[in-house]
Amino acid sequence: MILAANFKTNHTRKSTLEYLETLDGFSNTCSEDSFYIFPPATALESSSAHITIGAQNAYPIESGSCTGEIGVAQLNEFSIKTVLIGHSERRHVLGESLDLIKKKYDFFKEQGFTIFFCIGEPLEVKEQGVDAVMAYIADQIEGIDLSYENLIVAYEPVWAIGTGKSATNEDIAQIHSKIKKICDKPLLYGGSVKEANFKDIVAIDGVDGVLVGTASWDVADYISMIKSAK
Ligand code: PEP
Repeated sequence: MILAANFKTNHTRKSTLEYLETLDGFSNTCSEDSFYIFPPATALESSSAHITIGAQNAYPIESGSCTGEIGVAQLNEFSIKTVLIGHSERRHVLGESLDLIKKKYDFFKEQGFTIFFCIGEPLEVKEQGVDAVMAYIADQIEGIDLSYENLIVAYEPVWAIGTGKSATNEDIAQIHSKIKKICDKPLLYGGSVKEANFKDIVAIDGVDGVLVGTASWDVADYISMIKSAK
């Protein structure tokens, strides 16, 4: 199972190091799971044997004049080869266009990065039914090379992210099975995964793991959530 934690704009460098130390002790007892942590840019670290560190965002550039962004040169300092692309907060809050997302995807694919590519529909689309959801997702993946060997897809309905309201198991099973028909890469679910629903969600056919925001920020709670499915 793939267990990915998105810290968003939480944790400092110091607290990230403490978190990683605790999680490392636990993760080496979970040989069948892959752990990924996406800390904020100021807390990037090198990966350990059991935990891969990824960037929440990076600009498609080696280095140059892009104020406020980081590129490959900054990621290389920590040997980071994993990046999140297309997270809903970057699409909908920070206004990243489909064009920029595709540019990032192509650039980091060229660099051989493991790409966590996030897709998912806003509430008004969900309310129009499954066909509308799949049409929305089709737009998000247009021009994206789904055959890329280091691709991990995360289905994250926008209305479920950070709201405490996860998609139902039936919704997840339905959308995952449809995405699996067009892309055979590992497919994560994300959106208000927490201890109360973790075990059921990871047991759904077509769910290869989870991308967790809020419920990952406290390491003891995160470990307890993972243990709940063991
Ligand atoms: C996320 O940020 O990718 C996410 C799924 O957040 P949350 O778990 O808080 O809904």
